[in-house]
Amino acid sequence: MSLTSSSAVDQQLRLRIADQLGAGFKGDVIGPDHADYGERRLVWNAMVNKRPGVILRCTSTEDVVAAVNVARANGLPPSVRCGGHSVSGKALSDGGLTIDLSGMREVTVDAEHQLVHAGGGCLLGDIDQATAPHGLIVPAGIMSETGVGGLALGGGIGWFSRKHGLTCDQFVSLELVLASGEVINVSATEHPELFWALRGGGGNFGVVTRFTFRAHRFGPMMRIGVSLYQPEDAARALREYAEIVPTLPRTVGWHAALKDVMPALPFVPPELAGRRLLMLVAMWLDDADDPAGAELIERLNAVGRPAVKATTVMPFAGRVQKLLDEEFADGHRYYTKEAHVSDLADEAIDTLVAFWKNMPMHGEVEIIGLGGAIGDVPEDATAFSNRGYLLWLNFAMSWDDPANDQDYIDRTRKIVGDLKPWTGKGIYVNMLNFDEMDRVVEAFGGPEKYARLGRVKAQYDPENLFRINYNIRPVS
Ligand SMILES: Cc1cc2nc3c(=O)[nH]c(=O)nc-3n(C[C@H](O)[C@H](O)[C@H](O)COP(=O)(O)OP(=O)(O)OC[C@H]3O[C@@H](n4cnc5c(N)ncnc54)[C@H](O)[C@@H]3O)c2cc1C
Repeated sequence: MSLTSSSAVDQQLRLRIADQLGAGFKGDVIGPDHADYGERRLVWNAMVNKRPGVILRCTSTEDVVAAVNVARANGLPPSVRCGGHSVSGKALSDGGLTIDLSGMREVTVDAEHQLVHAGGGCLLGDIDQATAPHGLIVPAGIMSETGVGGLALGGGIGWFSRKHGLTCDQFVSLELVLASGEVINVSATEHPELFWALRGGGGNFGVVTRFTFRAHRFGPMMRIGVSLYQPEDAARALREYAEIVPTLPRTVGWHAALKDVMPALPFVPPELAGRRLLMLVAMWLDDADDPAGAELIERLNAVGRPAVKATTVMPFAGRVQKLLDEEFADGHRYYTKEAHVSDLADEAIDTLVAFWKNMPMHGEVEIIGLGGAIGDVPEDATAFSNRGYLLWLNFAMSWDDPANDQDYIDRTRKIVGDLKPWTGKGIYVNMLNFDEMDRVVEAFGGPEKYARLGRVKAQYDPENLFRINYNIRPVS
């Protein structure tokens, strides 16, 4: 049967799908009349208002196999949902079939071998909570509610990237349900070319039902330094930041956030909460008691003319990873744009600061300090591309009134355009937005790498069943 790009699943087809799934399917078949439909069709970004025809909420690898088989048999390219954080709403398709992995969030930790097994529907917080009691972490993102499925398969950057590399660099093996319904194990020695492709190639090759990650010793406490700056002092602080950041050891991550509204975080004095402020955050990625860490954090806290600075030591899993959850809560209208920074020159800083001082929407401009271990892995060793950048920019904008959509999206696009002289080639595939589909090849590292990915795709998903994603077309 040929595959349609947007099939409508009606009541009749839903009944047929339920019948085809049979008694072996232990999950839920959720159509528009199901009590959970309203909740299961919601994703992080309220701009995404899709109504799938049927959501198959899976509880096991067997359920996923059954779901993939009915999708294929009925010519329905499935969307795959883990944490629902895809910025452009790829977790769902209008009228289509969604494979929802939220019933597969189990995590087991093999502390002796520093291995972590995580179900394909886990959120980052599930992994953090399971690893913390063992003094371990799996390097992942910057908050707890993002899905490990989408994040890890697209790369995965976060607080520990400088020290340990990307989340996909920690893959030991993956259990994968192919378009054919076959379940395979993928690792450096089993299907090695597919293993290469899964490290950055996104959800193009099948549904990962189980990740096995290499974990690292850390914590449970993390030392953090925070300094806050009034708008008039922001450019000076960022100039010092740009000068110092290339000199830092990889045991520290240093990041900037130009916030329109400073939330009442633990280190923020009440008189500064709610103000437009620049925040610099330095995180020591080693032993929180190490005097070298304390000294460096103090030094970074002191740059420029901070309105306030603070050092704190807090549990990584229980506190640090949850600090941003509230700020990026589900259900607001979001528009994000990522750009790799080639040169954080004075003029770029001035342009950024001028935008931030006047932006009418809610949100923040983030400068994320990366580099370090990300660049230890050669560019052609994984599908993930453009490892070389030290600084990444992210515009994370939000609002609630749909009437503002066009204006606020246009403003964000314009500032990213204005910054072009200082941004480099490539874009993070996990941050590609709905209006950047012409950059998919660039996100996958250019035509040569994209063609190699296309050959892997042809071998494992020749009909392009998994196409509701940043798609890699099969090429023979
Ligand atoms: C608030 C927020 C914070 C973020 N923070 C970070 C961060 O710190 N670091 C970072 O690197 N990125 C971050 N991102 C980007 C994030 O990596 C992507 O949005 C990613 O797609 C989210 O994954 P998800 O599982 O939550 O998304 P979903 O929308 O559920 O899935 C997105 C896509 O991933 C694929 N997919 C998901 N699970 C599986 C699976 N088990 N098997 C096969 N395919 C699968 C599917 O193609 C699916 O369409 C953030 C995004 C948001 C919105």
